[in-house]
Amino acid sequence: MDEFGMGNSTLNSHFGPTLNPLYQQNEDIVSEYKQETFWAPKADSDLINRDILHSIPNAKEIDKYDEIRYLKPILKSDYTIDSQMRIVGGSSGGAAASVAADLVDFAIGTDTGGSIRLPACYTSTLGFKPSYGRISRWGLISYAQSLDTVGIISKKLDIIEKVFKMLDVYDYGDPTSLAENKRVRDEDNWFADGRKVRIGLPIEFQLENMGSGIKQRWMQLLEKLRQNKLIELYPVSIPSIKYSLPVYYTLVTSEASSNLSRFDGIRYGFRADKYTDTEPEYTVTRSEGFGEEVKRRITLGTFSLSSYGFDSHFMKATKLRSRLINEFNSVFRDRHELIPEESGNDKGVDFIVCPTSVDKPSIVSEYYNTSPVQSYLNDVMTTPISLAGLPTINIPYGKSEGFQLVGQFGYDYKVLKFAAMVSES
Ligand code: GLN
Repeated sequence: MDEFGMGNSTLNSHFGPTLNPLYQQNEDIVSEYKQETFWAPKADSDLINRDILHSIPNAKEIDKYDEIRYLKPILKSDYTIDSQMRIVGGSSGGAAASVAADLVDFAIGTDTGGSIRLPACYTSTLGFKPSYGRISRWGLISYAQSLDTVGIISKKLDIIEKVFKMLDVYDYGDPTSLAENKRVRDEDNWFADGRKVRIGLPIEFQLENMGSGIKQRWMQLLEKLRQNKLIELYPVSIPSIKYSLPVYYTLVTSEASSNLSRFDGIRYGFRADKYTDTEPEYTVTRSEGFGEEVKRRITLGTFSLSSYGFDSHFMKATKLRSRLINEFNSVFRDRHELIPEESGNDKGVDFIVCPTSVDKPSIVSEYYNTSPVQSYLNDVMTTPISLAGLPTINIPYGKSEGFQLVGQFGYDYKVLKFAAMVSES
């Protein structure tokens, strides 16, 4: 994965790049896999997560630990990535690649602003991001806590549904976990009465800079949906979608700067163990420990939270986010499970559909040459839905192409059920 979940390429990983299994790569870029071990407290022990050990626990305590082994890839000192290799997407690129390459039946990851859906799209797999708060974040390292959502990638919808059913429970260990009575589960009645399913197409997503291949494919999909007698298509307007990308990057960087402040190397995380007379030790630790993109975001976020940037950046973005949520509510037929009194519209739509990406995945060498801001543009289709916390799934539609099916907050099973209906037809 991209370090701390920041990125959309999985080229920013601490362990080296993840490549896209749908494209040709002749040379193995890994020279060997080294076995690493650590000891984690057993769930029923009286120890807490902080007690993870990197050397064998003493004999008295050893029964309280599980020995965990993993393989760490060691990259060749010099390797060539094939010229036609494309990025796998990120930040959960490793999860998507392992599903696409048939190493596993499913993988989990987090989606803060698209990190399940974008790599799923680029690897032609299904990637489901549930409603915010539906799967526990206990044990997850926070990147931006008001957006981080655990999601599932697989090639099969029934596997996604099975895994989701298992994880879809309230957890007291996560203060943002959704209460049991807010989890809509009556799956059977939604499409039973023969009523047409209304799909909204936000006009704000008709982006001029969409690649021509994607545009063409999108038109084909709309035509296919139009021919389906069970479906009605409606244009809808959600004006604040156009502010989503700057709002998202203002809020995630602010939250990241706060969440990552715990990595001081003294109470928490990696420690450089270097003392100098001129700098505090945590400065050296944080300079060595964080990658370039992570440092960039901490710096941006610290500015937005400072007295110079708080009103003009952080508060402004927060207000625009609320406006976006209201606009989404105004177009959905179902009620938002957390704000029922401010939502629900008889004339509204059941789902929103839009492309997952604006273009095919970039060629790796070209991506290395794009500026950070340019790379953030890849998240333009996925971030509005994250800001509103809505359940959504990437459904593949061609090689490295896909579309998002989005439902009202809380209606996760309705999304999965309808995904099955459109995938079959
Ligand atoms: N690409 C987005 C970012 O870097 C989304 C990442 C994510 O969902 N974890 O913030």
